Amino acid sequence: MLVPPLCWSCGGIARRGEPLCAGCRGRMHRLGPEPVVLCGIRVWAPVAYAGPARDLVRALKFSGATRVADAMAAQIAANAPAELLGAPLVPVPLHPRRRRARGYNQAGTIAAAVGRRTEAQVVDCLVRSGSAATQVGRHRAERRAGPAGAVRLAANTPARVVLVDDVATTGATLAACARALAARGCGEIAALTFARTMGR
Ligand SMILES: [Zn+2]
Repeated sequence: MLVPPLCWSCGGIARRGEPLCAGCRGRMHRLGPEPVVLCGIRVWAPVAYAGPARDLVRALKFSGATRVADAMAAQIAANAPAELLGAPLVPVPLHPRRRRARGYNQAGTIAAAVGRRTEAQVVDCLVRSGSAATQVGRHRAERRAGPAGAVRLAANTPARVVLVDDVATTGATLAACARALAARGCGEIAALTFARTMGR
């Protein structure tokens, strides 16, 4: 007997190919097609980072659930303006140490899933160059490596790109990515994320 797929949020029965049951899908707080501006970058996110949306983000981060990325990509693509969807997608990088530990970068998984839907190219051109840790408790060698969250360009970039991440919070990481891209002449930068934290 085949076990029916279970909802990543409530553990109830979900339709095949859907990571959430109908009830949890309905409980997601949808944000609409208007972008917000975080640290000077326009960010489109289809849902608020809460409830079932947060459970999906955690499922992708900690359980390696690629079907979750496909469902996220469907919502991102449905909510983003059409002119953004053709542009090359640049995943927000994970620190190399975290990426090794996790085996993948969840932002890259989401970008690949969006790219499969929209036929946009994925350009994995950014790397984190600072420490993986926060400033507090960093070793001297790590402090010398640069500020936590520093980002540099590791490959050539197209002139117009769209940053992709799972969650937008303050926008500080997106801004660090945008600075690295702008330093090499990438002029037009927007961001697509699956979720956005609210109440700031
Ligand atoms: Zn559910």
